[in-house]
This record gives sequence, C-alpha cells and structure tokens, in this order.
Amino acid sequence: MTTESAGRRSVPVDGAAFLASMRELSLIGATAGGGVHRLAASAEDGQARDWLAQWLRQRGFTIKVDAIGNLFGVLEWRRGAPYVLCGSHLDSQPQAGKLDGAYGVVAAAHAADRLRLQAEANGEVPAFNVAVVSWTNEEGARFQPSLLGSSVYSKTMTAADALAVCDEAGISVGEALTAIGYAGRDQAPWPPAVCAEIHIEQGHALEDAGRSIGLVAFNWAAHKYEIEVIGRQAHTGPTPMAERRDALLGASYLIVAARELVEQLAPRLLHTSVARLVTRPNSPNSVTSQATLFLELRSPDPEVLVDAERLLFEAFERVRQNTGVAISCPKVVRRGVRHFDAEGLELARASAHALGLECMELATVAGQDAIAVGTIVPSVMLFVPSFLGIGHHEEEHTDDALLVSGVDMLTEVLARLCAGDLRSTVRGDLTARVAR
Ligand SMILES: [Zn+2]
Repeated sequence: MTTESAGRRSVPVDGAAFLASMRELSLIGATAGGGVHRLAASAEDGQARDWLAQWLRQRGFTIKVDAIGNLFGVLEWRRGAPYVLCGSHLDSQPQAGKLDGAYGVVAAAHAADRLRLQAEANGEVPAFNVAVVSWTNEEGARFQPSLLGSSVYSKTMTAADALAVCDEAGISVGEALTAIGYAGRDQAPWPPAVCAEIHIEQGHALEDAGRSIGLVAFNWAAHKYEIEVIGRQAHTGPTPMAERRDALLGASYLIVAARELVEQLAPRLLHTSVARLVTRPNSPNSVTSQATLFLELRSPDPEVLVDAERLLFEAFERVRQNTGVAISCPKVVRRGVRHFDAEGLELARASAHALGLECMELATVAGQDAIAVGTIVPSVMLFVPSFLGIGHHEEEHTDDALLVSGVDMLTEVLARLCAGDLRSTVRGDLTARVAR
C-alpha cells in the first residue's frame, strides 16, 4: 500500500505488522514472568536468528553470517557501494525484557523493508546499500566482554580472540555458534558508510520530559574489571581465625569499597557495581580459596573514573593487608566517552521534526553496538522511552504507540542515510577511516 505525496509515493509505517513481529519474536525464549531468556549463542538465540533470517529472506534480503556470527540481511542496490548498517542485538540478559536489543533489530528490519518498498514504488536506487544486522553477544552475560560482534566488525578485536572466549562451563563462542549453525563463513557487508541503531532508553529521562525520541549525543565512560582474589582453602571449623586467608572475605571488602567510591567522589557522578561473583571451592565447609569479581565503574566524566580507579587500587592494598589475600586484576576494559557524529545528530533531529516527533538529546549510560561501530564510521543512535526506566528485567515496557513512532523515526533516518544526506559518508576520508 502506498500513498501519493508531491508526486512521490511513500509507504506508511505498518505498526500492526511491526507489533506482530515483536510478539512472534518474544515467544522465543519466553519466561513465565513475561520476559525473555536468550543468552548469546544459546539454542534460543539460534531460534531467534532463524526467525529473523526467514523474515528477511522472504522479503528479498540476502542473508550473510560472518565469522563471529553477526547476522546480516543485505539489500545491495548498487554493486560495491558502501553499506548503511542498521540493527542491534537479539541476545538478552538472563530473565530479561522483550525489548532490549530485539526492538532495535526488528525495527531495523521493518524500516529497511519499508525503504525497499518505497524505492520499488518510485523506481529509485538509493545511493548506499543497506544491511540489517543482529550483532553477536552484545550483552556480555554469557561471554565477556560485551559488544563482541560489533567489536570484531570494527576491528578492535580479532575474530580469533572473540571465538576463543569461553563461558562459565568452558564452552567457547566458536563452539556455541557452531552448535546453533551460526559459525559463518561470509564476508561481512563492507565497506560501511554509517551505522544507525534504535534502542529503549533504559533510563527515564524521556518519560520525565514527555518526549518520544531520544537523540543520543554521547556515551558514559566505563571501566570493567575482572578481579581475582586468592586465599587458601582450609577447614571452616578448626582453622584458627588468625591463620585464615579467606578470599570471599577479601571480595566482600572490595564489594563494599566499590560502593563507597560513590560517596568518596560525590558530588561527582559515578555508578559502581559488582554484579557477578564466582567462588571456589564454593562449599559451606571450606574457606574460599579463590573469588572472581566483576566490578564496573561508569561516569559521564572520564576524570572521575581515573580518580575512582586510583581509590579502588588503594582499597586493594588495604584489603591485602587486612585479610592476607592476594589480589590481581587480569582483565580490564576501559571505554572512554565518545560523542556521536554531530552531523548525524542534526540529521536525526531534522528527521524527528519532519515527522512531528518531540525529541531531546541525552547520553547513553549503557554500552551499545553503535558505540563500537562508531569507532570506524559515523553512527546515529536513537532512543524510545522505557517505562520507569526499567531495564534488564522482565517488566521492561514501552507503549506500542511509542515503539511504532520509533520505527517510523528510524525509517526516516535510514532513508536519509541511504540517500547520502550525511555529508561525512560521501567525503573521501571515509575510505581512509575504515581501512585502518
Ligand atoms: Zn541492548
């Protein structure tokens, strides 16, 4: 169905079809509490990928799966032309919401398909090709680090290193992808021109301001530490207290120290967490010999993280002295503040105005695939409101009307990007940037 306007036929957003797609996808890995449980490269992730691939294939997209399992639905309008990448991720946190990531993938699929119909109706050939994408392991729940697929695509991590990462059971990313049939051999769509992603906000700034679209201007800095606390296994009964080197006790002091950083650095803004703790031998009758903590620091100000890290390492020293444990930090990932492409932000603002959508600029606190891809090409990131800011929880919710206006917005942005409206994508420096 098309409508005529100023001699050009435009295809209206099909909200009902989009919402039906979301409902279908949400059945895969559905939880009793109304959410989804779809860990990266699990059987459920495989079924979700199959669902997406079939949806895209039926509409004429070519499916490509690269070495790290990124799933692309490609429309190659011009042979050899750069790609506008548009998508998010189908994997979820454990017992999580239906929207996070999945919304952005399904929105991208519907937006790109609408562009296809529009181009066909008008006999147009867009300047750039488009690739709908579901990036592998955005969440970092089963496999650490997060943003695995988009980091490999952006060449900040090699496919070999990413495939070798193991989950807690010792299953590698490569083995898990093979098991679900997504250890791909295709070349990923290349070169990229620009990347676009829409996501639920996972905060409530949009809801508080009564706006329907967020234009993401920058991301918070984040430091993620994997910390090993080494003690000595001993009997919990007879071992004299003074002789114990209890790794769990040391870890407990570190968890408290991480929380206290917030007050120590107040009023500067800092979020901290330890959300995963693995202990050995994990027996009620043995003093813990080893504890692994996953500790995160996040702030919009990278200087705050520099100070927080210094205080954290001072805490290591105090805990060593007080408990006799050894503490090391074998893995650290530091992500800086990155500003999204200024011209892309203006393009998104103009798109919102053209559609009559109330928008505002904000930051993303969480990491996103568009940040990783934004290291090689301009990226445009959009948010829709999330009810009460609930995220990584089964009760995650956004009203249908807001979800649909987000798809409309993404289509408008995608149309402009595919037409080459972002000047930085047609400048000669693009090739130099993506070739690094
Ligand atoms: Zn997400």
